[in-house]
Amino acid sequence: MRFDLITIFPEFFAGPFDHGILRRAREARLVEVNVQDLRVFTKDRHRTVDDRPFGGGEGMVLKPEPLFEAVESLLGQSVGDVRQQTARDPRTAIVLMSAAGRVFTQETARRYAQLERIIFICGRYEGVDERVAEHLATEEISIGNFVLSGGELPAMLVIDAVARLIPGALGNEASSQNESFSESLTCGAGGTGAAPLQAKTADPPGRMKLESPITNHVLLDFPHYTRPAEYRGWGVPEVLIGGNHAEVAKWRRAAALEKTKRNRPDLI
Ligand code: SAH
Repeated sequence: MRFDLITIFPEFFAGPFDHGILRRAREARLVEVNVQDLRVFTKDRHRTVDDRPFGGGEGMVLKPEPLFEAVESLLGQSVGDVRQQTARDPRTAIVLMSAAGRVFTQETARRYAQLERIIFICGRYEGVDERVAEHLATEEISIGNFVLSGGELPAMLVIDAVARLIPGALGNEASSQNESFSESLTCGAGGTGAAPLQAKTADPPGRMKLESPITNHVLLDFPHYTRPAEYRGWGVPEVLIGGNHAEVAKWRRAAALEKTKRNRPDLI
């Protein structure tokens, strides 16, 4: 899968792709990341990417021309104009990062993971000329109900969430099927790749399906614990140390539900 990032701050991305799963996915050629400096597509001496807003008001707005041309250069074809719009390849998404976009969720990440290519447009200043949202981007995406100063961090965040869902990117595929916001959150012992606390749990029974009516709900992950079994006097739930897989599964199910109720009642 290929990710392109169009930005006025290309140096911003030195670093974030060089660690952990993203780094491994790039090394394994599951993921390719290309950072495109928007200013390459300016034509004036000052390499101007922004202009004052029509109608007045504060701040500057990213101009449409460099953004359209940057995307077209990456696509290798024109997107057209008001008279004729070029047909889009459904395997490529052109995503405008925007506080006013649709909110990104795990479901969006799963959908994006099926694509071949995502081109991110990172806004700055007051935002981006609306014609980019209307006629260039295929989607306008927000990462939450708050305003940041640029689209670079939001795009990074989306790439991180998507890349780890690409088959082969995680060491243990069960990890991405069995975590917060995954429809099929199951609570079997050994199901998330966590090392069993005791050697006698060496034959993990695999993942068990939730049987309670909460099965179909999108739950948060259950709490995880590792050694030491007691830290500063705080212990680990007894049942997790016991090695009884059925009891562990039951506890995890209840704990996931309790935590979801406490932290995210809107999900229940
Ligand atoms: N005037 C805009 C905010 C502009 S912030 C508004 O009120 O909606 C500048 C840029 O930061 C945006 O163009 C966008 O690319 C990025 N950005 C800010 N908050 C974001 C969010 N919650 N999600 C995604 N991108 C965001």
